[in-house]
Amino acid sequence: MMLLTKKMIEIRTILQKVGQSSTLTLPSIVVIGSQSSGKSSVLEAIVGHEFLPKGSNMVTRRPIELTLVNTPGSAEEYGEFPELGLKHITDFASIQRTLTDLNLAVPDSECVSHEPIQLTVYSPNVPDLSLIDLPGYIQVVGQNQPLQLKQKISELCDKYIQAPNVILAISAADVDLANSTALRASRRVDPRGERTIGVITKMDLVDAVRGAAILNDKQYPLRLGYVGVVSRAPHTQGLFKMGTANLLATITKNENSFFSSHSMEYGPEAGVSVGTTTLRKKLMHVLEQTMSLSLQTTSDAIRQELEEATYEFKVQYNDRPLSAESYLAESLDALKHSFKQLTAEFGRPQMRELLKNELDQKVLDLLAARYWNKPITDLLPPHPETDQLADLPRADSDSLYWRRQLDASSSALTKLGVGRLATTVVATAIQDSVEVLLDQSSFSNHPFARSAVMEAASTILNERFYSTSDQVENCIKPYKFEIDVEEREWAQGRQHVSNILKKELDDCEIALSALETTVGGRRKLREVMSFVDKARKGDVTVEGDGRSGAGGFSAALLSKGREAVFLRERAEIIKLRLMAVKSKQCANLKNKYQCPEVFLDAAASKLASTAVLFLNVELLSEFYYNFPRELDLRLGKHLSDADVERFAKEDPKVRRHLEVIRRKELLELVLEKMESLKQLEGLERERLATS
Ligand code: GDP
Repeated sequence: MMLLTKKMIEIRTILQKVGQSSTLTLPSIVVIGSQSSGKSSVLEAIVGHEFLPKGSNMVTRRPIELTLVNTPGSAEEYGEFPELGLKHITDFASIQRTLTDLNLAVPDSECVSHEPIQLTVYSPNVPDLSLIDLPGYIQVVGQNQPLQLKQKISELCDKYIQAPNVILAISAADVDLANSTALRASRRVDPRGERTIGVITKMDLVDAVRGAAILNDKQYPLRLGYVGVVSRAPHTQGLFKMGTANLLATITKNENSFFSSHSMEYGPEAGVSVGTTTLRKKLMHVLEQTMSLSLQTTSDAIRQELEEATYEFKVQYNDRPLSAESYLAESLDALKHSFKQLTAEFGRPQMRELLKNELDQKVLDLLAARYWNKPITDLLPPHPETDQLADLPRADSDSLYWRRQLDASSSALTKLGVGRLATTVVATAIQDSVEVLLDQSSFSNHPFARSAVMEAASTILNERFYSTSDQVENCIKPYKFEIDVEEREWAQGRQHVSNILKKELDDCEIALSALETTVGGRRKLREVMSFVDKARKGDVTVEGDGRSGAGGFSAALLSKGREAVFLRERAEIIKLRLMAVKSKQCANLKNKYQCPEVFLDAAASKLASTAVLFLNVELLSEFYYNFPRELDLRLGKHLSDADVERFAKEDPKVRRHLEVIRRKELLELVLEKMESLKQLEGLERERLATS
């Protein structure tokens, strides 16, 4: 028959994983008693080890769900805290410390917690039992204990002593049974005494006649009876502390000699139950009976629960199977797939364009600094009468000034750190694209995976950064000394830079009209601008009268005015240069000193093209090759099951989906086990009937 209990306890353990619902559980034995009634001593005698927290400061603050698993044929005894992932603890003192820590972690202000601690003990010396130890009832509230403590403990116990659980009510023999808090509590929920076992401890403290009278109590008769025990191990003499391994043996020996010395009162003829061994047997028997009685109701409840889970799975998730691993694998595949697409879309031409755009900006800056800051007269075609300046439009290799300007400009361009700039631009673009891919992927709801992917990308890019930027810098080195531009390159540069200038012109105009809006209209802006013009010529003074600012304009307005004048002049110059670039003069490569815009554009193009050759080999191809591998490393097979689970559950939708499936699977498993158990039980009954 014992096999049944073991199986039922197994099922009970699985049910604990399914959920908290009280209908979905098989009964257990709930141990209640006042503080110091000897509750811990009884439990430890049953287990054969000292393992419960000890101390004066109310050490049991949480229920302990204690599962005992009999392991015949194995010499080992050990405990496990399944929820904490603590396995195979062979040192019972360490189990005791863990229990103490877990209990003391409940803050004093809360007194007790309803959150159970699960502990399983495996041993060849324990019976298969499922016990729940609860905080002891307290009689008087201690100094540092809140007033509601008594109330809270009693509420917690009430929750557990409900049917179909069996109540193990512990009372000490030296306290009047009428005052036993445990028996009073159990009487409230089990008035007919049908599922309570009375345990009377400290039988050694009362004389035998009185002891026997207690065990025969008629005030609160119990169908399952009273058992008297002496569960304190006698102090051994000598230096050696008694080994805890034979705790039960010591206690039993002590009990035997005690009870047999009062055989009149406690002997076989006396009709009372005494001894820890008797108690153990009774517990096993009662638990098995209670469990098999509730087998039917529990399996009905499970079936109903399973129907609900199945319905939810069908309606909400379309019966779509899912596991944390398959979810991760699919998400990873999808990401790699879209990455593959990216590799086809982002190659040399795209890199070149990116880089060229960046260099275009640098070229504009250089032009502004070296050419467009000149008085307009320098840039205009030579005036027929005042033909004395080395004006740009007729600059040639003889005009030293303009030659130096162009040399300095192209030198600044080639020496601006093209290697670093190019590598940064491309690396940033790659990183941005990966981020976009991520946002569109199912990883977007997974902070953990998201950062793993971003790290995978930045690790590769960082590793390649310095060597790439050095390589690129090296290969553009020749341009630092000389830039040879060919006809075709010149023509392309001319075309390209005209577009850039047009765009720049547009931008100036957009900025101007934005300014108009901020100052409150075109007319207003014109007024301020003409004031700024006059002030520059010295016609008016910019010093204000202290109240309204110069010319009646506020300082803020004046600064807008100056900005507008700058933009207007910039636009004038660009218009002028645009005309020059389009003129016949600039169509000819020989006039490069007159057309710095075209020359610098062509130079920038050469830099970009050369840089891209190396960027492609050193950075892009490397990245394209390594990234999927790096992803596998970080999110692939060597992630632990717990990590995979954690990852999948980051997404609330996936979590619910997985939970429904898990619940369904567990319920199916339990139901299957219960069915076979019921069959086993039937066979057993038949066997007993025929024998
Ligand atoms: P708990 O507070 O209900 O868990 O009680 P304990 O098991 O810690 O026991 C309280 C005190 O009673 C301890 O000092 C035990 O040694 C003592 N005690 C427990 N059982 C017996 C017993 O059967 N006889 C005697 N004389 N003392 C006992």
